[in-house]
Amino acid sequence: MLNAEKVVPTTCPYCGVGCNLELHVRDEFIYKVTSPFDSVVNHGNLCVKGRFGYDFIYNKERVTVPLIRKQPQTPGQRTQAFDRSAWREVSWDEALDYTADRLVEIYQRDGSKAMAVYCCAKATNEDNYLLQKFFRAVFRTNNVDHCTRLCHAASVVALQMAIGSAAMSNTAAEVSDCDVFILTGSNPTENHPIIALQMKAAVQKHGAKLIVVDPRRIEMVNYATLYLPIRPGSDVPVFSAMAHVIFKENLYNRQFIEERTENFEAFATSMEKFTPEFAEQISGVDRGLIIEAARMYATAHNGAIFWALGIPESTHGTANALSLINLALLTGHVGRKGTGLNPLRGQNNVQGASDSGAMPWHYPGYQAVDNEENARRWEEAWHIEPGGLNRQRGLTTTEILAAVHPGGVRALYIMGENPMMSEPNLNHTRKKMQELEFLVAQDLFINESGAFADVFLPAASWAEKEGTFTNTDRRVQRVRQVIPPRGQSRPDWEIICDLAKRVERRLNRPNSAYWDYHHPAEILEEMGRYVPDYAGIRYDRIEKVGLQTPVPTPDHPGTPYLYGERFPRGRAKFHPLEYIPNAEMPDEEYPLILSTGRVLEHWHGGTLTRHSWMDDLFPEALMDIHPADAARLGIHDGSPVRVTSRRGSIVLRAKVTTKTNIGVVFIPFHFREAAANLLTTDALDPQAKIPEYKAAVVRVTPASEE
Ligand code: SF4
Repeated sequence: MLNAEKVVPTTCPYCGVGCNLELHVRDEFIYKVTSPFDSVVNHGNLCVKGRFGYDFIYNKERVTVPLIRKQPQTPGQRTQAFDRSAWREVSWDEALDYTADRLVEIYQRDGSKAMAVYCCAKATNEDNYLLQKFFRAVFRTNNVDHCTRLCHAASVVALQMAIGSAAMSNTAAEVSDCDVFILTGSNPTENHPIIALQMKAAVQKHGAKLIVVDPRRIEMVNYATLYLPIRPGSDVPVFSAMAHVIFKENLYNRQFIEERTENFEAFATSMEKFTPEFAEQISGVDRGLIIEAARMYATAHNGAIFWALGIPESTHGTANALSLINLALLTGHVGRKGTGLNPLRGQNNVQGASDSGAMPWHYPGYQAVDNEENARRWEEAWHIEPGGLNRQRGLTTTEILAAVHPGGVRALYIMGENPMMSEPNLNHTRKKMQELEFLVAQDLFINESGAFADVFLPAASWAEKEGTFTNTDRRVQRVRQVIPPRGQSRPDWEIICDLAKRVERRLNRPNSAYWDYHHPAEILEEMGRYVPDYAGIRYDRIEKVGLQTPVPTPDHPGTPYLYGERFPRGRAKFHPLEYIPNAEMPDEEYPLILSTGRVLEHWHGGTLTRHSWMDDLFPEALMDIHPADAARLGIHDGSPVRVTSRRGSIVLRAKVTTKTNIGVVFIPFHFREAAANLLTTDALDPQAKIPEYKAAVVRVTPASEE
């Protein structure tokens, strides 16, 4: 006889919108997903991933028992093993003792610099807080990062420089309060589908004007009043030319600038050179469109800017984001409802993982690691002797891999991430993974990175554990255990505590940093004692509706929009800018620009969605190419093409479409069989250390001729 149905509220495990889900469960089996109509985030709407993409939980390839490689792996000889026959099943005790022994051996021999960890934007705040605590408090290293480095790192750096805080300033749904909003470097129809619905409603129901600035003719262009089809990498000239027009035509907000900003004179001088003519020459956008966009945004009552990875994923990503911030400061379109600077965060918990300290330059709460007062505060929190924590900034994700060599990083711990799909220049990444001395993978599946590991620790899925995610507009929401963990899999936070205790025993510091949590609620409370923005968040306060940070006290109602009174750094700062070309520009040998990104049906490295029914909906990588380029190259819709950059080559089928502009091709990066990141460049933004995913130059030829 079937047991009664349970309906358990929780939060979507995919994108940063953070839609509220209801999981319908019977006999410990999830058979349906719905969403409540009164959800403040998504009003009952869900995209295809949220409604149908949860079946990876039951995929037969999921690993639910700890594994150790049968053949010991040695640096330089390390191989990938997807096949379970290369692994032996072991008990949790054996897996964790083996892991602890190897980590301690390397740490005692080579010290903190040899240790590194990738935290996870898909895991909970509590999981991420504990993993960074483990590596900082026990291995005394700040080589702690996660995939925020590969998405919005430049937005974070720019916002910190100009404002003093890195999150979205406003709530996504406030787009309905805008009368003009700019959407740039973002394709929300595919990447933030519910926010795309809200944007369409803002235009169609509330009469907002939309300005799209993008090298691809994304679906939102159909709703736009103005579309500026820029060449990849020309963001600074275009947005600075808009500032130039606003300044010259006296459309700027003098009172806001005088009362709330600094460095305006230097900025205004630097804007002289960014004329609409200059921007037209660099970007290919008609100067009249640039002038019209500038007037429209500047004269709005409520103007807002939304952006995603097209802005930060560049060797000048920090400058790109600063050009948007300058515009908002010039017009005073920040600090009020329906305005703002809104970097749309990609993954379900990339905001929370960053808040929780999964970054190499900051403790939880963006407290700089090289600040003595901060270090002392966290030494007290984690019961560490004064001076015990490392004061040196750690390495970022790409730098961690670059540092894999004798005398550098030797041991890497990866929780839930997949650098063998997500890092740029994968042939280089592969060599570095092979050179590691010890690699731990903690995940649900043996993905392209876990296949290199020495030990595999099977983690519970989001539906099998408790915790919190923080969505793109800073809303901390509950994640609930709906079913028991499959097989022997365990929640990430439990695995970390068990392993940390074993490592501390071997280092003769038993339980010194404290690992005896009974429930993730205790972990969030510990974090909140030292991170003021989370101080007022308790699980019982977010049972029904999440709270938007900052929540500084137990009775604080949360903060839908920021900077109403002041900016975290006091006055916001204008930054003079220069135009810097992309690291690679098209030439005769490589005449097209490759942009990479996601599609609606898949998620990042594909670890979850490629083990889901989503893979039947979108089973292979396709390259978008404009009909004019396709005709010139003799390429037909659906025909195979070879795409070659200076770093690698892949074969996939072409999709001939006007969604991309002439000179630009687009490839999603979810597919191992045609991994787009074999082609991308690992040239970095010097400030944010983010790679230039959006502008590698390539050559495309018909593969049928080979
Ligand atoms: Fe999940 Fe994002 Fe889709 Fe909402 S929009 S259901 S959060 S993937």
